[in-house]
Formats: sequence, C-alpha cells, structure tokens
Amino acid sequence: MNHPLIGVSGSMDREETRQFILWDYMQCLCDAGAVPLLLSPAMTSSELKACVDKLDGLMLAGGNDIDPDCFGQQPIPELGEVNPARDRLELALIQAFYEAGKPIFGICRGIQMMNVALGGTVYQDLGVQYPADTGNAPMAHQQTSLPRYPSHRVDIAESSLLHRIVGASQLRVNSTHHQAVWKVAPSLAVCARATDGVVEAVEDASRPFVLGVQWHPERMTGTDEAARRLFEAFVQAAS
Ligand code: MN
Repeated sequence: MNHPLIGVSGSMDREETRQFILWDYMQCLCDAGAVPLLLSPAMTSSELKACVDKLDGLMLAGGNDIDPDCFGQQPIPELGEVNPARDRLELALIQAFYEAGKPIFGICRGIQMMNVALGGTVYQDLGVQYPADTGNAPMAHQQTSLPRYPSHRVDIAESSLLHRIVGASQLRVNSTHHQAVWKVAPSLAVCARATDGVVEAVEDASRPFVLGVQWHPERMTGTDEAARRLFEAFVQAAS
C-alpha cells in the first residue's frame, strides 16, 4: 500500500513553548494507512510551500477558539483563549492545500478554520450569538459525558460526500464545542446539521475530499464505524 503523507496541525500551549497533538489523531491516521507529520508555525512561507508540494493531504485538529480578527469581527466577552500564531499557520496551510487541490480534513476547530480560510465566519459563542441570530436556543453542544460517547444527532444531506462515506442519513456524534460555522464560505456547502440547525459538517462538492466535521471522530473510532470510515476515506483520497 502507498502510505500518503498527511500534514497535521495541532495545538500550542499558552506560553508557546510546546507544540502538541493528541495521540488519537495520529493513531487514527496510522490505522487508516497514512504517515502523519506534525507541522509547525516555525515554517517560513518557502518551507510551507515545500511542505504543500511534498505532502498528500492536510488534517486540522481541534483546539482553542479562533481569533475573530481572522474573519473581521471584534471579540465578544464569551470568546475563549485564542492563539494568533496557530491561526496564521492554519489559514496559510488551508489556502495552499486548497489551491493545490489536495485533500483537507477539518475536525472541530478544523471545520471552523476551513470555513474562515475560504471566506466564511464563525459564531464566537453559540450560547450568545446563535439565539440572537436565529431566534432559537442551541441544544447542548458541550457534552458532559466522555467524548467517546455520542450526545446528539446530525442529519446528513443526501448525495453529499459525507453521506457516501458514512452510508447513512443520520448519525449520533459527540459534541464538545461552543463555537460553530456561521456564514458558510462560498465554495463550501453544509452537508450535516444538528437538530437545532447548527452546522455540523461542510464539504466542497467539486473536490475529491475537502470535508470538515464539527464532532470528534478520532475519539469514537473504537466504537463507531462511521468515524473509522471518515479517516479511511480521507487517507484513500490522499493516496
Ligand atoms: Mn455539536
């Protein structure tokens, strides 16, 4: 088997002394046959270009909030910790991999960052901004149970890439987010929503694999076939 090289964007501690990635992400990519490589904000633009040339795909991990400056908004009081260095790296990576036509898989913060990098916006805080925008209160998107357990349903658009991958019109997923996609980027389409209407997955139908999910499939592959299929489909698209 050809083992595609997947660039992974992970987290940084608050002091910016350490970069790290939770093992689950790397394990899931390896289990699906890929070689995952952690990417760094230390890269210059020419190093970033070299990495886009050499790598077969990009996976964006979950993490802290996105600086609303990335989509032209001022911070609201409910905004959590942001890291401008991580934001800068991921914006550049997504735009470069997208331009190169290579597969991109965004998870949790990753779906939000994909949407922002391609021209969309994000709710800084669902609890405050979602009711103000839609008139509806969101359901609980920060579950208290362990992330290996699903906590809410998503409805999946027929004839979407996501539907083809998971082979179902509904899934139960975990949920550990207080931000979410707001205005959807022009090149992306919503392919799954929670029952309160919150966007839970987006994709670019014109590409073999540009997909973001708001849940954490990497925490569910032990018990959930759909979660495993997502990683397999991504790695296959990168092969
Ligand atoms: Mn959710």
